[in-house]
Amino acid sequence: MDGPAIEVRGLRKVYRTSITRGRITALDGIDLAVPQGQLFGLLGPNGAGKTTTVKILLGLTHQTEGTARIAGLPVSDPESRRRVGYLPEGHKIPGYLTARQTLSIFGRMSGLDSATIKRRSVELLEKLNIAQWIDVRVKKFSKGMTQRLGLAAALIHSPNVLLLDEPTDGVDPVGRREIRDLLRDEAKNGAAILVNSHLLSEIEMTCDRVAVLRSGKVVAAGRVEELTRQTAKYKVIATAIDDALLAQFHGERVNGHVELSVDDLQQLNAMLDQIRARGGLVSELSPMRSTLEDVFVDLVRA
Ligand code: ATP
Repeated sequence: MDGPAIEVRGLRKVYRTSITRGRITALDGIDLAVPQGQLFGLLGPNGAGKTTTVKILLGLTHQTEGTARIAGLPVSDPESRRRVGYLPEGHKIPGYLTARQTLSIFGRMSGLDSATIKRRSVELLEKLNIAQWIDVRVKKFSKGMTQRLGLAAALIHSPNVLLLDEPTDGVDPVGRREIRDLLRDEAKNGAAILVNSHLLSEIEMTCDRVAVLRSGKVVAAGRVEELTRQTAKYKVIATAIDDALLAQFHGERVNGHVELSVDDLQQLNAMLDQIRARGGLVSELSPMRSTLEDVFVDLVRA
């Protein structure tokens, strides 16, 4: 396949609403490209246009202008969806089905034969750590287990493109890590993954690149480490830092360490000299970066 696995160019979507008899511009000319093997985070405040983007990619609504392609095919071509896996937010699986039956239905809808469904179901439920629940009805599943099953259903046909809305919603920290590992494996095997999430720390840990949408426009895009730039702050853990020294170097105590705002390295070293002169020991010194949450809040408030 030539070109990115997911590509949108100049995408505009204007909804006509009967409520206000007006028009809402949900997307105002966005460009995005996700190559195979990449985990891409789509961020933005409520109403920014994330769901609309995903709905256009799935052919559930149509763009007003611009192009959207999956695996090189326009999304108006149903063939483009054959190798797409989708996990909607707050998805519902009928409670009377077991995990095995659920995956069998999704597998058959994707055109898989029964041997492949059987193999893939066990493989995915094992990776997601719910294999022992394979013959239990979904109504007995916790929220986190239902979420894992939804992910298994989205992955049953080994898709090339994954569109995931809040994949770790309701999942405990251990489960979130398992899901992150699974998504990384899928990306390593070549899948292009678009993750839509409000959990910014989760996106920071999972995604290679992100785009931030605001009012239907891309206001920032890039690798996570490009966006979370280094600040002029250092984290210091050391003994013998008293209040006078803190005040001298504009430091503050935060959760057992000291955060120091310094203008240059000379100032930083001057502080270290003073700590040592007092017989203090430095056990950690590291430059601090802004988090994705800091960047996000700045962008959406601007
Ligand atoms: P959230 O984080 O709250 O899910 P979102 O970023 O997914 O938000 P969208 O659901 O894409 O945002 O909505 C973008 C804009 O389009 C909003 O102003 C929303 O009210 C509007 N919108 C979405 N769907 C429709 C629709 N079917 N008819 C009219 N307006 C709509």
